[in-house]
Amino acid sequence: MKMMKALVIERPNEAIVKEVPIPEAGKGEIRIKVQASGICGTDIHIYRGEYLGSYPIIPGHEFSGIVDAIGEGVTRFALEDHVAVEPNVSCNNCSACFSGRPNFCENWQGVGVTLPGGFAQYVVVPETAAFSIGTLDFAQGSFVEPLSCVLHGVQKAQVHLADKILIMGAGPIGILLLKTVLTQGASEVTQLDTNKGRLQLAKKSGAKYVETEVNNLQNEAYDLVIDATGVPFLLEKSLDLVRKGGTLLWFAVPKKEASVTLSPFKIFEKGLHIVGSYTSVRNSIQAVRMLENGKIDVSDVISHRLSLEEFVRGIETIEKSEEGVLKVIITF
Ligand SMILES: [Zn+2]
Ligand SMILES: [Zn+2]
Repeated sequence: MKMMKALVIERPNEAIVKEVPIPEAGKGEIRIKVQASGICGTDIHIYRGEYLGSYPIIPGHEFSGIVDAIGEGVTRFALEDHVAVEPNVSCNNCSACFSGRPNFCENWQGVGVTLPGGFAQYVVVPETAAFSIGTLDFAQGSFVEPLSCVLHGVQKAQVHLADKILIMGAGPIGILLLKTVLTQGASEVTQLDTNKGRLQLAKKSGAKYVETEVNNLQNEAYDLVIDATGVPFLLEKSLDLVRKGGTLLWFAVPKKEASVTLSPFKIFEKGLHIVGSYTSVRNSIQAVRMLENGKIDVSDVISHRLSLEEFVRGIETIEKSEEGVLKVIITF
């Protein structure tokens, strides 16, 4: 049996690189030789035992690679194709799927969450979960998944021409949100973060103002406030910062047990539109197009390139919010 290296989370807080059998591509599946795999907040939740999934698991849902084996009946791919993966595997046979909400599929499976993921040399996925990335480099290809989620959220929030927008948080997702809203006609974006290194990139990427202290921001000043922090007091504060009739997009994944105090009267009086956004709904082709055509450049969002053996160091780097830390990717 041929073996490969994989990062396996055996149980919370215990991840090791070990040899496991290379998976075979079954009917309707392709095998991908992974080239780049990004560490996401979800991987940290899985590693820390805070979120979904069962153990042991090979995490990793933001990755790209080369098609290296093709199962029976696969029609969209050939060997050597370069692909990225949309990790939400829906059944196409439940009421959520039939209603165009595959992200809420009743039989949902997630590559890197409930199925083996991309922190391994090889991974097998259904053909329907893979998308060609053409000539895009693999590091950029690993952003197809997070960018898909961002595109879905921004579409739900409906940016209008000349909007003034506040983005709270300038981590990788905050920066992707910034780059995306700027393509939608935002006239002015302010970005908030306590990490000055991150704010430098926000500024370079087109944020007009950057701020480290939320109390320096003016209330009622923004058409749209986007949260990319999940921090409860900032979520509460967003109700004051948004103008009357404005929109809040609460995008970040907050802690499961977190709660906030809201004034229902304020929501009524200001006529607010509060939008949540869960994963994506088949936004991968859009994401690939934005990346391929340089409408959104993500090369500067990568701050660290590590090896598979350095996975835990990557997680700790993100958790400590080291100066300027953005996207950490594992390359093979
Ligand atoms: Zn992710
Ligand atoms: Zn379904």
